[in-house]
Amino acid sequence: MLAMALNADDAHLVEVNIPSPLVGENDVLLQVLACGVCRTDLHIIDGELPPRTPNIVPGHEVVGRVLALGTNVSRFQIGDRVGVPWLGGSCRHCSYCMHGRENLCDTPIFTGYDRNGGFAQYAAADARYCFALPARYDDAHAAPLLCAGLIGYRAYCMSGVSGPMRIGLYGFGAAAHILCQLAVARGQRVYAFVRPGDADGQRFALELGACWAGHSDARPAEELDAAVIFASVGELVPAALRTIRKGGTVVCAGIHMSDIPSFEYALLWGERCVRSVANLTRKDGEAFFAAIDKHPVITHVQTFALAQANAAVDFLRSGRIAGAAVLIP
Ligand SMILES: [Zn+2]
Ligand SMILES: [Zn+2]
Repeated sequence: MLAMALNADDAHLVEVNIPSPLVGENDVLLQVLACGVCRTDLHIIDGELPPRTPNIVPGHEVVGRVLALGTNVSRFQIGDRVGVPWLGGSCRHCSYCMHGRENLCDTPIFTGYDRNGGFAQYAAADARYCFALPARYDDAHAAPLLCAGLIGYRAYCMSGVSGPMRIGLYGFGAAAHILCQLAVARGQRVYAFVRPGDADGQRFALELGACWAGHSDARPAEELDAAVIFASVGELVPAALRTIRKGGTVVCAGIHMSDIPSFEYALLWGERCVRSVANLTRKDGEAFFAAIDKHPVITHVQTFALAQANAAVDFLRSGRIAGAAVLIP
């Protein structure tokens, strides 16, 4: 099969011809229909996350059609359309797994990092960690739900906003464009912070219902109840703390962030809280899909052929994607 695999020497993906994946007893074999490109893929390609598997095939927002079933699989049928997220497996016996925190498993299997992902014509995935996908979304538009949507939703929940609160979203990419719609549908006021000079990003956020959009170093007139940082820029942590009220939470939603500069304690004082969000649990996925069943969101995607994966990555890196980049094999 054709796949785009990591060539660690030059931080690029190369087109390779490799055997189709073997199917383990708990796996489904999938024909990949679409696969989103996530910022985490950039961190893997750029070596900002330590390499774990040589020549890995990235991609953890996989929409696929089931072609074959492992002997233990009864959840899905051949022909079903399923989604594969970042958490591709967990040990199921460490203290985190035993207490509903499989996102923190000591020995997790991450899709497109520990095992080959969806930048390929075919992929195998542990069926126990896959999701059924809502029929309302076609393949390309379903892909970004699987990480941007799902881990974004976990971060949004951790921010503690409910009812008519004000939430700041830093970095208006794939995750924020989904969360913005959901938060607005729930009656929240969304403040979108984009990189200075990104007029298109500001306009996009306002179109999706944000009540305010401005530069990441700007201070809105009102105090915010919480903020979620999707951009991988450590300077945004003190910036976000400056915008939130006493008792508010700043959630760092990315897997990698540049160093956070030191800041005066007064920014944290008043029971403000800074926390990270790591990975996802299957419960997060179920909760997210229930949430967008109640308040449907529209995902905006820009599609690329599989062989154009490096172009998709470059577009994402330089902020030229409105919404999400998706590869179509
Ligand atoms: Zn575990
Ligand atoms: Zn991701």
